[in-house]
Amino acid sequence: MVYDRNNIFARILRGELPCKKVYEDEFALAFHDINPLAPVHVLVVPKGEYISNVDFSADAPDAQVVGFWRAVGKVAKQLGLEAEGYRIVANHGPQGGQLVFHFHVHIFGGRQMSHRMGNMPRPNDRQ
Ligand code: 5GP
Repeated sequence: MVYDRNNIFARILRGELPCKKVYEDEFALAFHDINPLAPVHVLVVPKGEYISNVDFSADAPDAQVVGFWRAVGKVAKQLGLEAEGYRIVANHGPQGGQLVFHFHVHIFGGRQMSHRMGNMPRPNDRQ
């Protein structure tokens, strides 16, 4: 698979599409998901052209990997989620349910997450 430079998150990174920005640094941009599945549902995307965790983990420079994961932690902290807790998810490929082919991590928080970890959280999940 070849990275598509016109995927939605690439266009958001270039400023061609709007987003509700939460955080930005040289390694990552974080913004609210357009279809939130929890009271807090934020996406963190690395800067650079990575399709999923497959190429990000294999090919991204060490500084990019470290910078990205530090950004994920900073975003969760900035959102006030550390004390109560949160869930992070990254989908890869068809069976992973990936829809946007620019690597991203979902941060879910603000309510109790289900222990059914084979599924993404759903809007009305209570446990
Ligand atoms: P995936 O299944 O690829 O991990 O999830 C992609 C996520 O991107 C979905 O949760 C979807 O709601 C979100 N999304 C899709 N298009 C947009 C958009 O244009 N803006 C924002 N903020 N989120 C989007």
